[in-house]
Amino acid sequence: MTNVQPVNAPYVPPGTGWPDDPAVAGTPVAHGPAEVRSLAAEAPSLGELTARQSVCRACPRLVEWREKVAVERRRAFAGETYWGRPIAGWGDEDPRILIVGLAPAAHGGNRTGRIFTGDRSGDWLFASLYRVGLAASPTSTHAGDDQRLIGTRMLAAVRCAPPDNKPTPAERNTCLPWLAREIVETADSVRVIVVLGGFAWQAIWPALKEAGFDLPRPRPMFGHGAEVELTSPKGGTLLLGSYHPSQQNTFTGRVTEAMLDAVFTRARDRSLSN
Ligand code: SF4
Repeated sequence: MTNVQPVNAPYVPPGTGWPDDPAVAGTPVAHGPAEVRSLAAEAPSLGELTARQSVCRACPRLVEWREKVAVERRRAFAGETYWGRPIAGWGDEDPRILIVGLAPAAHGGNRTGRIFTGDRSGDWLFASLYRVGLAASPTSTHAGDDQRLIGTRMLAAVRCAPPDNKPTPAERNTCLPWLAREIVETADSVRVIVVLGGFAWQAIWPALKEAGFDLPRPRPMFGHGAEVELTSPKGGTLLLGSYHPSQQNTFTGRVTEAMLDAVFTRARDRSLSN
C-alpha cells in the first residue's frame, strides 16, 4: 500500500495514489443533504458516482469521527495510514449480485479504504464468497491487494464509520441518495440483493422505493434466508436476508460458515438462473 500522507493526517487526499481511489482532486464534494441529493442524481456514470461518494462531507458527526479515528488509530495499526474517507461501492460494474451492509468499521474500511476489508466481519464474508465462487481470493486485506469480486458488488447503506457502529436515522437519510442511485445504476444487471443484518434491511427499503421498485406491504420481516421477490421497471430482483457476520454473531454461533455459504450459494444460483 502506498503511504500517501503524513501518518497524522486525518484522511487521504483524493487522487494522491491510494490504490483504487475513485476520486481526483477536483471531484465535487457534498457538504450537506441537498448536495448529496443533487450530486448523486447528476453523476454521469457509476465511476463518477463512487468518486463523489468517496469525498462526501455531508454528516458533521461522522466526518469528525472518521477523521479522529484516522489520526488516533488503533495500536495494532499505529504505523499505517488510514483512509479516513467514505467507503464507496466496490466490485463488478455490471453485477448480478449486490451485497448491502450498514456501515464500514472504524478500523476496517475506514483504515483500508475498501468495504468489509481489514476486519473480522470481512474475513468471514470474503472467505464465504470465495468458497462459493463470488470472490477471487479468500481474504481481503487492503485496497490494491489481489482481491476481486466476481459478478458481485458491495455497498454500505451509510458510507462512513459511525461511533459505536450506530448511524443516526438522520445520517442514514442523508446518505440514502448515494445508495439509491447506485441501485439504479446497476439495476440492468442485478438479479439478487443480499442484505446483511437487520439494520441494513431497514435501511434498504427507502432506497429501493427511490430506485423505482414496487414494494410489498406490510414490509417483510428480516431473517436469515428471508426472501422477497421485488419488481422494478428493469425486471425481477430477489431480496435475500442474511445475518451479519459480525464478531458477536460469529463468536456466539448465531452465524456459521455453513449458514453464510447457503445464502451466497442461493444468491449465486438465482443470479445465474434468469
Ligand atoms: S455517511 Fe454518507 S452522506 Fe454522510 S458524510 Fe458519509 S458518505 Fe456523506
